[in-house]
Amino acid sequence: MKLFDVYPLFPIEPVKASGSWLWDSEGKKYLDLYGGHAVISIGHNHPHFVEALKSQLDKISFYSNSVKNSMQEKLAEKLGQLSGYNNHQLFLCNSGAEANENALKLASFVTGRKKIIAFKKAFHGRTSGAVAATDNPKIVAPFNAGHEIVFLPLNDVAAFDQAIDNTIAAVITEGIQGVGGIQVPDDAFLKHIAQKTKQAGALLILDEVQSGYGRTGKFFAHQHAGIEADLITLAKGMGNGFPIGGVLIHQNIKPWSGMLGTTFGGNYLACAAGLAVLEVIEKENLMTNAETLGNYWINALRSYSTILDVRGRGLMIGFDLPESLAALRKDLLFKHFIFTGEAKPNTVRLLPSLPLTKSEADIFLEALFAELKPVAAL
Ligand code: PLP
Repeated sequence: MKLFDVYPLFPIEPVKASGSWLWDSEGKKYLDLYGGHAVISIGHNHPHFVEALKSQLDKISFYSNSVKNSMQEKLAEKLGQLSGYNNHQLFLCNSGAEANENALKLASFVTGRKKIIAFKKAFHGRTSGAVAATDNPKIVAPFNAGHEIVFLPLNDVAAFDQAIDNTIAAVITEGIQGVGGIQVPDDAFLKHIAQKTKQAGALLILDEVQSGYGRTGKFFAHQHAGIEADLITLAKGMGNGFPIGGVLIHQNIKPWSGMLGTTFGGNYLACAAGLAVLEVIEKENLMTNAETLGNYWINALRSYSTILDVRGRGLMIGFDLPESLAALRKDLLFKHFIFTGEAKPNTVRLLPSLPLTKSEADIFLEALFAELKPVAAL
């Protein structure tokens, strides 16, 4: 059987990883500043993470959500403590798209409405059909014909004020837009939409799938704006590579049996991975490290005039290059052995693991400036 060929692949096969580093099948060593789309939060194969998974495998790896699972409770407690959202409730699932589906579903259940405000260039996942193809009224009401989505420009207060009213079930926004090119919502804009959303009786959903888990220097990116969300969606860095997602749900939203559900969500291995990630973030002060090294990178990148625009917070950074430098990411990979991400060919995205060291940050700056120097001299 052939693989369904939907991914453009680099001709590199990583076979080993540790911290910020990868080794390919030919023994070449690479600095990983992308972490597979912000997934590697505490570093590849962190010893505490590996040990937690191994010891859980020796006990039990899976049963269904029809029995008590105290691993889920331990994870919820630690997550509440580190995120500051102690009073929210946790629903566990497997991916970012699923987390967002569940958040949108909850918003419709709570409000009885099906209209959603979303922002242009945001990315919330790739699912659409499963609920639409289900006719169990307990699961799908009141949005069985699908949600109706209104797309607005980010940071546009006037457009938002025109669209928000008491027909809206939810407003969904990323803490910082990732796939859209590291677009940061203004703190004042987030404060404004939080207030107006509440006044309209709608729910605010913060998609922190990419921007969460300490990456920006606070546990969630929206916490820089001093706001609280009704629903917060998680995945990626939550499991450091083990698939796990979740929704934090406001205490006023009361659950009923069957309201949400999943087969794999919250299984023992996923919880062991999720708990180990939180323990490492706390023990190694990774949020502080993300903020310190993020500021260091942002200042260094802004000092270089060939770089057109530098955006982001902590270790979630994007910068634009002139069109003539669209091949830079490939040069970084094949000449300097450094993995980075992109949003469009001339926008580079940096999403390294949070224990990044200053010397690793400097390896990147040296390689980047070596590539930019000949262009700057023209
Ligand atoms: N939300 C955001 C902000 C994302 O960046 C992504 C994936 O890139 C998703 C949701 C979807 O997550 P997943 O691929 O785990 O379904």
